[in-house]
Order: sequence, then structure tokens, then C-alpha cells
Amino acid sequence: MNKFDLGRFEEEAQEQWTHAFESNPSDLEKFYLTVAYPYPSGAMHVGHGRTYIVPDVIARFWRMRGRQVLYPMAFHVTGAPVIGISKRIAKKDPKTIHLYRDLYKVPQNVLDEFTDPLTIVHHFASEYQRVMTACGISIDWRRRFTTVDPTYSKFIEWQWKHLYEAGHVIKGAHPVRYCTVDDNPVGDHDLLEGDKAEVIKFTLVMFRCGDAFIPTATLRPETIHGVTNLWANPGIIYVRALVDGIPWIISREAAEKLALQDHTVETENEIAGRDLIDTMVSHPLCGKVPVLPADFVDPDVGSGLVMSVPAHAPFDYIALRDLQHVGRYPDIKPIPLIKVEGYGEIPAQDIVEKNGITSQMDSRMDALTQEIYSAEFSKGKLFDRYGGKPVRVARDEVAALMIEKYDSKIMYEFDTRPVVCRCGNKVKIKILHDQWFLKYSDPAWKKQVSDHLGDMALVPPEVRQEFDRTVDWLKDWACTRRVGLGTRFPWDTTQLIEPLSDSTIYMAYYTIAHRIKEIEPGLLTPEVFDYIFLGKESPDLPAKKKLEAMRKEFLFWYPYNFRFSAKDLISNHLTFQLFHHVTIFPKDKLPLGMVVFGMGLLNGAKMSSSKGNVFLLEDAVNEFGADTVRMFLMGSAEPWQDFDWRNDLVISTKKQIERFYNTVLEIKDSNGEPHDIDRWLISRLQSHIERTTAALINFQTRQALQEAYFGIETDLKWYRRRLPEDSDGSRELHTLCSTWVRLLAPFIPFTGEHLWKQLAGEGLVSFAPWPVSEKNLVNIRIELAEELLSRTVEDIESIKKLIQITPKSITISLAPEWKHEIFLIIAKADDRNAVIKEVMKNDAMRRRGKDVTDAVKQCTTLIHRLPPQIVGPLTHERVNEKEVFEAAKGFLEKEFGVPVHITEAESSEHAKAATALPFKPAIVIE
Ligand SMILES: [Zn+2]
Repeated sequence: MNKFDLGRFEEEAQEQWTHAFESNPSDLEKFYLTVAYPYPSGAMHVGHGRTYIVPDVIARFWRMRGRQVLYPMAFHVTGAPVIGISKRIAKKDPKTIHLYRDLYKVPQNVLDEFTDPLTIVHHFASEYQRVMTACGISIDWRRRFTTVDPTYSKFIEWQWKHLYEAGHVIKGAHPVRYCTVDDNPVGDHDLLEGDKAEVIKFTLVMFRCGDAFIPTATLRPETIHGVTNLWANPGIIYVRALVDGIPWIISREAAEKLALQDHTVETENEIAGRDLIDTMVSHPLCGKVPVLPADFVDPDVGSGLVMSVPAHAPFDYIALRDLQHVGRYPDIKPIPLIKVEGYGEIPAQDIVEKNGITSQMDSRMDALTQEIYSAEFSKGKLFDRYGGKPVRVARDEVAALMIEKYDSKIMYEFDTRPVVCRCGNKVKIKILHDQWFLKYSDPAWKKQVSDHLGDMALVPPEVRQEFDRTVDWLKDWACTRRVGLGTRFPWDTTQLIEPLSDSTIYMAYYTIAHRIKEIEPGLLTPEVFDYIFLGKESPDLPAKKKLEAMRKEFLFWYPYNFRFSAKDLISNHLTFQLFHHVTIFPKDKLPLGMVVFGMGLLNGAKMSSSKGNVFLLEDAVNEFGADTVRMFLMGSAEPWQDFDWRNDLVISTKKQIERFYNTVLEIKDSNGEPHDIDRWLISRLQSHIERTTAALINFQTRQALQEAYFGIETDLKWYRRRLPEDSDGSRELHTLCSTWVRLLAPFIPFTGEHLWKQLAGEGLVSFAPWPVSEKNLVNIRIELAEELLSRTVEDIESIKKLIQITPKSITISLAPEWKHEIFLIIAKADDRNAVIKEVMKNDAMRRRGKDVTDAVKQCTTLIHRLPPQIVGPLTHERVNEKEVFEAAKGFLEKEFGVPVHITEAESSEHAKAATALPFKPAIVIE
């Protein structure tokens, strides 16, 4: 009946946990933690598992420490992704069907309903709840909601009213990432690839070519003076198009892009790339130059044609050199125009030759290009004949001049590629007019956020810099979309509030989510929310009693203590929510802390649902048990480190839980009389309690498990070795089991509940009091004695291995008194290098001569090797080594099966005895 069976423990616990974690305001101190809620468009994998299990361990820990804990959950269903999914399922797209039917295991009859986007999110929201529950995540499910609930929309409207009144919602024209298939701006969450890509502003330099212009996009307009030619790709088709009524020659891709960037574009005819080669073009600032062939020109970058500045651009230099090597265009020479310290007359030539680059395809080319770009920008100066100004000044001046006088235009491009929408389409840049923005660029708003960040607890501390950087560079954020699910934008109801903008203060909504359901959405005016969240009275508020109860909940729970999320959300969600909080809530309701997670790997590779590299959480729970999954995820890395899921390691975690389980059952009913070794075990237990507690306060789940599991297990092993032959252990073991089970309960709550019952513990272990270390049970003297003994046993074992003879006897020689004196002086010394002087002040020591200097050296080395938690106590607690070994003589003889002699080193004749040190006796095996 008491066989280890995680499945049975799960069933037992689940029955007792129904409603157990529903949490209400009380007299206790509160602990409110929230996690970024999921977008339920697919099944949960083990990476998601960690996101919700880390906070659960923390929630369980604080609950046991007597706090009123709230851990709520809701579902974020705003936006367009799920609409795309439903469309693809309706079109029977094989990739999507495969993902949902085979990977996410959606039954066919349910899948058939997925042509309705809301069915998808509702299906997976229920799945999420089911799987989270199966993992033992202690959520108050009464507060569950979705972001398309009418009641929630009322809350969002209230939030936006305040943002608007504070002047943070503005209208304007702006380049945004855009998907032409979805006909919608693209948020970070809508991207398959390229979420780091930034929108960069290029200048189009307009070269005259007959009656048409050939534009080339550049970030370095000042280098126009050094243009020797243009590059066109002879292998592609260009178009002649009327752009705002004027003929341009550009790639087909460029024509499409320009049409999205405030230009009218009408294609007239196609032109083969090869027909452009050797055409002469001109620009007032560089005169006539030819168009040369280059296969590296990408039609999907800029205009599809490039201006060539071989003196300053390594790519151009090499391309020209390659042509000249085969005898073409021998007369074209690089034209330098910038002087830059550290480089010769022609910097591009310099750097290419210095690095021995022979081919355009060399992987170092991008880095070298960047190097010259940075050097010239930071310390380069134009030649006097071109104005003599620093590059950083000239660049903007030339760009402005070109736009004013030489027909130049702006073109937006991504700095890195590809950028791909979740629908599979390449993302483009579109200038949106009448677009609504959140004005994150506002310095006053930024300052409010920075000031508050300074007061927040950020875990791990290294993320603070990243938050500061994000606040600094955040630009205005397009906050509405045309397509998707969500709340209508109050000032233009054809638009919807986009997903990252309607999920910034919902942590406040959780506090009332279960109660507000009782009120008709139509009654939820802004005044109602003003009362609940801001305490502002208004005449004729509806359902006042209910509102009062909600106000009470909000005041009790808010602000939240900690928000948990993966680190990729720092650059958007985690920072956005601070902007919104500082606008809406008073200072004492602003967030207190954030914990930022690392990423999940699966067998060493990044987890990704779209790439099929995931292990479903439910499969993991079914295969290994929920406790195993939890303990593995908590033990393999600290939350902010990346973790790697490997099935073989997970299996060994399961064995560890089984070992723990069996050990507890074996020893819990021991009833022998306590010995010294029991006092040792209980004394050690106090520091395990202390360190586990400290680790969990700091969210170090791995460190906590090391202490609570392995620390205690190792002690028990030693304890059982040291027990007198006729003893199975004392009644103290019951105390140990009770503590051990509680220390591990946040990690493995199912096994914890089962064992708690076996121990006749009161109520549920989930609510049992967290162990508290007791100072009066700590016995340093006994701990040091056992430490000395166990270290000596280890030494004997390693010597035995080394000498490889069958021993007949073991002699342990103890260090003389004067070495103890030296040891003590060193251990107490602030400056260990000055110790020798201190020792030599003593006449008796001085007379020992070289023995003393040797002993100082050896003791110093020993003290360096010993952990500080041993050296510290040794400075005020003298271990009587002779007594320790005499008392353990029987134990040592039993362990090694030979007679053991204890001697004083100074009365021993064996040469090795002279090496005896305090806490490290000499050992002679014969
Ligand atoms: Zn798309």
C-alpha cells in the first residue's frame, strides 16, 4: 500500500486541494505574485511549465511561512495570431493541421471547430488550466478571466481614459512593422523571426539615368563624393515605375516597399538587370559614373541598386578588385574622401589587405565593414575639399542637402533580416497615418518610470541595466490594430487595442476578477473603476456593497509583490506595465518587484513550438510524474539561468524522489534513545533550514533544493553509518522527517501531502508551518567533532586507494599543542601574510626554528582549503581531537576492519607523524 506511486499521490492530493488555494483578504500579511499570463493558442510545453512552477514554489513557500498568498491566472487572447490560425485550419493548411492534430494532440472533432478563433483560445485556456492543475500549481481559479470578456473590456476602457487624459495617447504618422497578408501592424508576439530587427532610416541618393532616377539607399550619404560606380545585379529583373509621378528604376521588391511608405507607385515596364550594366548615371555631387555588375546586390534590400564607394566600403573595394582581376574596368580607382586616424589613405583597401581577405564571401566582411563604419563615424573627418567637417556632422548635413536640393527621399528598412510574420509572410515597413500611439518617447513619462524602477526589487540584479536601457530607448508604440480580438479603441472604434497594450495593469484586475463577474458589464462606468482602484466617490454608484468589497480586495492585495516573466519580455511587456502603472496608480500601489527567467532548452536546442522542438508538459507529467517534473525544473538551474530538459536526467530526479520517500518511511518510526550523533544530525538540520529559507526568499530554487534535499540526505547517510551497531536510529528521526517533508513540500507537493499523512501531520502540508531553525539545537562542538572525523575517514579512504596494500593497522597521530596555537593565530588573523611575525614574537616558538615556519605554511594552506563555516567556529571552539578519536575508535575499526591506534604525533616514531596538523591528523597505514 505504501509503494512509491506518484500517480496515486497526485490523485490523493488533488482531491484535497479543490478550492484549497482560493485566497481572500485576512488578518495575515499578504504575498501577491503574478506571472505573465499565457496566450493559449497551443499546448503547454515543459518550458511553460517552469514559468508557472517557479512562482508556485515561491507561493507555497510563503503560504507555509504564514502569509496570505494570492497566485491568480488568466488568459490573454487579444490580437491576430489566433485569427490566422483559424484561417489556416479552415484552408486545411497541412503544416498547421499537423501541429495541432499531431503535436498538440487536439481530437479531430475539436479541431473541426477551430475555424472559429474563439473556440481555439477557449479550448486551450481550459487545457492550460487542466495541465497547470495537474502540475500542482496552487492557483486561485475563481479569478480566471480572458481579455475578451466584456467586463475586462470595460476595465481597459477605464485604463485608457486615464492614459488619454494624461496625454500619453497620441495620433500621428509613423513607420511600423506591417504584414500585408494580415493587413495589420505586427507586434513582437506576431513574429516568427526577427524580433530584434529595428527600423532604420535610409537616405535614397538619386542618380540621374536618362529621364529616370536610379535611387540607392545609404546610411552614409556623405560618401557621395567617393562614388565610383553603382552596382546592379545582372541576374534579376528591375522595374521602371512612376513613383509619385516620376520614373524610377528599382527592384520589384523596392517598388512594393515604397508603395507602403507614403509613395504612389505605378509600374510601367520591366528592365533586365543585365541591360543596366555599363549604363552611365550621374549625380551633381559626384559626376558621371557607370553601373557595374555585382551578384551580391540583393533586390530585397533598399532599392535593389547600390552606390559603390570602394575607398571606404570593404565590399565595394573587393567587388571592384575582383572585376579588375579579370581585366575589366581597369581605369576605375577608389576615391578617398575621409581621413581617419589608424588607417591609410584608402581605409577599405587597408583593412582588406591587413586581414588577408581574398573573397567577397569571407565571413569577416560584415565585421570589417562595421569597424570602418564606426571608426569613420567616431573620429573621421572629410577632406578639406569636401568641407572638412567631422563625419558625424557631415552625414546629417549632406542628407538634408540632398533632400532639399537633389530629389533625395527617405526609405525605411530593417537593420537585420529576415523578419517574418507568424503567417509566414515577410514583414515590411509601412508608414501609418492616423495611427494611434502610446507616447513612450515622452521624457517626463520615462523619468517617472526610471524613478520607480530605482525603488523596485529586481531579480537577478543584472537585469536592472536592461530595464534602464529599455526605458531609455523606447519609442512611441503603435497601440491599435485593425484586425484581431480585443477591446475597441475608444476614440476610433474601427480599431482595436493591440495585445501588449491591453495587458499592462491586469494584475490589479485579478484582485476583483471573481467579484466583478456579479455585476452587469453595462453598469461598469469609469466612475465604478475610479471608486474601486482610486477610492474616488461619485454619486449613484451601482451595487455599492459589492464595490466596497472589491475596493477592500484591491487595497488588501495591491501592489503586487512580485511579477515573474521570461527575460525576452523586458524590452516590451515588463517595461510597458511600469509606464501604465505610474500613470494610473498612486505611489503606494506601484509594483514592488520582478523576477526575470532564463530560457528553456530541449536537449541543448532552443524550445520552439513552431519548429516542433518541444516536449509537452502533460506528456512529461504522465511519463515522469508531476513532482518529478517540478523537482527537475527547479533543480537543474536557478530561475534566471537557462535550463536544459533532458529525459535521462529527469529519470534520475524521479529516483531521487523515490529514495527520499523510502527513507522517510523507513526511519520515521525509529524510537531509540538519542546519542551524540542525533544531536549532530539535529544541529546540522538547523542550518539546512536556515539556508533553504534564505535561498527561497531570494528565489534560488536550485540552491534551496541542494540544501533541502542533498544536504539532508548526505547527513543522514553519515548518521546511519555512525549509529551504534544495535541501534536503528532514535526518535529524533521523526522530527527530522517532519522537517524534511515540509522543506521539500513546495517542490514536490504531491509526495509531500502523502508523507505528511504518514507522519500524522496536521491538515495539509501545503498549509503546514514552514520549519524554523532553533539556535538552542545548534551544537557547534559536536558538528566540528563529526566534521573532523568524517574528513579523517575520507583521508584514510583515499590513502588506502593510493597505496593499494591490505592494511594491518591504522595509526592516527594528532598534532601537538604548539601547532594548535599557530593554527589559531592564522585563523583569527586579518592579514595572513603577517602571521609569521606574530608567531615569532613568542620565545618558545622561535626556538623551534624551521619547524615553526613550515607549520605556518602548512596551516595557512589548510585554512585556505577548509570552508569558512568550519574555520570560523574553530577560532572560538577548541575540538579535543584525542577525545573525538578515542570515542570513535570502535566506529573506525568497524569501518576499516583493522585495529586503529590513536597517538600524539610528538611521541610517535613514524616520520609521517610530523606532518600532523590541527583538524588534519597524520595517518599511517601499515
Ligand atoms: Zn502576417
